[in-house]
Order: sequence, then C-alpha cells, then structure tokens
Amino acid sequence: MPERNKLTIVQLNDVHGYLEPHPELVWGHSGPLFPILGGFARIAGALRRIRVETGGNLLTLDNGDMFHGTYPAVVSKGYGIVPAANALGIDAMTAHWEFAWGPDHFEKLAAKLNYPVLALNCYRTNDGTRPFLPSAIFNRGGVTVGVIGMAATIIDKSMPPSFSVGRRFDIDEVALSMEIQRLRNEEVCQVIVVLSHLGLPQDAKLAEAVDGIDVILSGHTHNRLRTAILVRETIIIQSGCHGSFLGRLDLVIGERGILSFDHMLIPIDDRFQADEAMQQIVDDIMRPHRSELGRQVGVTLIPLHRNLQLYSPMDDLLLHAIAMAAGTDVAFSNGWRYGAPIPAGPVTVNDLWNIIPTNPSVSVTDLLGADIRQMMEENLERTFSPDPYRQMGGYLKRFRGLTMFGKLENPAGHRIEHIFFKGRELEDDEEIAVSFVTAQGVPEKYGHARRDLSIRAIEALEACLAAGGAASPDDVGRFYVS
Ligand SMILES: [Zn+2]
Repeated sequence: MPERNKLTIVQLNDVHGYLEPHPELVWGHSGPLFPILGGFARIAGALRRIRVETGGNLLTLDNGDMFHGTYPAVVSKGYGIVPAANALGIDAMTAHWEFAWGPDHFEKLAAKLNYPVLALNCYRTNDGTRPFLPSAIFNRGGVTVGVIGMAATIIDKSMPPSFSVGRRFDIDEVALSMEIQRLRNEEVCQVIVVLSHLGLPQDAKLAEAVDGIDVILSGHTHNRLRTAILVRETIIIQSGCHGSFLGRLDLVIGERGILSFDHMLIPIDDRFQADEAMQQIVDDIMRPHRSELGRQVGVTLIPLHRNLQLYSPMDDLLLHAIAMAAGTDVAFSNGWRYGAPIPAGPVTVNDLWNIIPTNPSVSVTDLLGADIRQMMEENLERTFSPDPYRQMGGYLKRFRGLTMFGKLENPAGHRIEHIFFKGRELEDDEEIAVSFVTAQGVPEKYGHARRDLSIRAIEALEACLAAGGAASPDDVGRFYVS
C-alpha cells in the first residue's frame, strides 16, 4: 500500500422519503428562514460530482429513516422510494422507521435494495440470531473499511409495538467491541466506521466507551454538525435531515489509521444540477400523486415547523385539529422531529402528509391528573436523561390546553413543578378527557375508556384549516423551564 491513501465518506441521514426539493428551516438572525433544499435529483448530482472528484474512492452510507415520512413513501409502505434509493449508489444503510410496517415487511423491502442493511444490534427474540448482517467490508483505493450498523434501539421501547414483533434492539458495547476486533484482526480493516441510528448523545457516549472506532456516522437526532465532534480518537458527524444536507468526510489514511481529515456539511441547494436520470425516476414515482398532493387546503399565517425542543408551531396546529375533531380541551401528540417546515402561505395536501405521514386515527381517553404528570415525567426523562442511553424521546411530548413549569436538570420523576388546566392547578385525582394520536402520543398503559374515532389525523387537519386553521394562543400547551 502507498504511504498515504485517500478515502471520502459521504453521509445521508434521516432523509424520511423526501424525494423532491422542499422548504427547510435554517435559523437566521431574526428567526427562521426557509430556503428550498434537498431533492434526490440534486443529491444524485452532488454525489456524481464527488465521485468524479475522488476518483471513485467514495463510500456513500445512509443512516436510515429513508423509507418513511412522506406520502409516496407511506402509501407504498416504503416500496415507492426503492427505485430512487437504489439509483443513488448507496453502499450500506442501517434503520429505524423502516420497521414501521413490521420487521417481516422491512426484510422483504431490504431484499429489493442493491445495498445491504447492517444492524449488529437487531436480534430475533426466539433464537437470538440476527436478521441482518452486522457489518460489511469495502475496498476503496487500496483502503479496507469495515462498516458496522447500529439500528435505532428505541424501536422496541418507545415506538408502537407492531414495529418490533419478534425483534429486540440493544446497545451492547461488548458485542460492538468484538465485531471491531474481528474486522481489524481477521479482515485486516484499516478504518472502522459505525453507521449509527442511535442519536448524537448516544454516539458520543459510545465513542467514549468503545475503543477502536475511527468514524461514527450519527443519525436520528437530525443534528446539522458544521464541525465534526472528536471524542478521544473517534470522529463523529451528523448531517441534518430530509435530504437537505450531505455530510462529507475526506480522510487521509496511513499505515496506522487516519492521519488527518476534512469535514464539510453540504447544503443541497441549487448549486447542484439535477441529475436527469434521477429526475426521471422521481417524476415517475410522483406523477400519480401530484395533482392530489398539490391541492390547497388552507392557509397558514405563521410558519409551521418542528425545529424547537419544548413546543412546535406545527404541532400546535395538529393538536388544535385533533382537539377540534374530538371536542376535548386537552390533546397530546409526540415530539416528532421529522416533517419539512411549511412557510406562511398556502398549505397543500402534501404538507399535511409531511406533518403526520402515519395518518393515524384521532383517539380519545380519560386521564387522571396523576396520569398526565407521570406520563410527562416519563417523557421528560426519555428526552433529557443525563444518561444518553436512557434518552429515547424525540423532542418534548407536544400537548395542548395545559401549561407546565419545571426544571429539566432535576432528577428523573421530579422535574415538573406545576401543571395548570383552565387557569388553575390540575389536581391528581381530577379526570379529564383528552384526544391524542398514536401510542407515542399517549402510551397504552395510561388512561381508560380509550377508543379510536372514525376521523383520521389528516382529515382533522383539513377540516381545521377549512375552518380557519390557527390555534388560539390561549389554547396552545407550553412547558416553561422554571
Ligand atoms: Zn430515527
């Protein structure tokens, strides 16, 4: 091997089925800005350019959450995205929302891909075997690279139970360490990459705990890292979501591993020419849906987005719509991160599917004040636990009709100081009817008289927008850090 070799790794993470360019929120001096970013045709154009620049010494890796999140993805149970994903030249992926239609479905979808799904930490519960390869080995320009997949571990913990039937997910540092040793010693890999869907705080802890990881491509938490994080010898990057950014890592490899690196977070904007072949594939996928998805269903006077931790204007609208449909004062959804923003102006059917691609039934249940407190305490711990491995929320659970005060730094179970309902303190033994969407909104162990209404979330949103939309500032739910 020559003294120095070069290897470029490009990361895609949390694309969530966004085939076409779309508004993306970037923070500006006085608030959010909404440039048009992403789109598979421009991503393909960017990858082609990088492939030429690097003389093919390129590994393209996808962290998962590729096949769920937009209308064409969910109506086809992920299959609609397959031709486009297969045309990107991806070398391997790991997974999370791919399990939305159950593990068996995902294994069938994975068999249609021209690249492997890697998941060291996914096991069958009946015999402890792995349904996917734990790792794959690639040779690029004289460098042997071992890539180990770590799927999301929340799939069997905080996602709906149907996602993980007969499967178990864990963060097993010993199993990871053994795989690294095997790749280094038996397969003579010079570079070890962990392709992770654990989340950035979890990946930083993993890099601290496990020796021998050169690079962690981090996913799930939608962080746009403009500077790579170094934890001991491990380089960690993560690159946004919705295909709005690519992460590029240029490595110089010597006899004993990585000598130096350059990192770039690349916004997928109009500097990148659309790849014509990919545009054709995307057009073929979108053609049957375009006229319905383009139908205007209302107007929003404020931008709707999910880029804040403690509340989101997009969920304020969703919760307002659910509460209107169910006739309740209080409503809950989940702290989802995905969903491209909707700038002030017209709202289309496409936007509604981006808000809530699972389009679940609107559900109702009766919760005691004590249930609400316990459910929120559990969610606060899952969101802000000082132990990253215990973090398995997204953002804070979204709610309407309640005002809460609390301290995030307090111990688990003791963060909430006050919950106010209709201008007074909510009593523990007081029962109130609440509406919600999905078991992520209100887990099944809470409440009684739980039932699904015949109206689904997207119909509720459409009805709400037809009636004028916007949630009143008096009704929105807020958590204030006291
Ligand atoms: Zn995820």
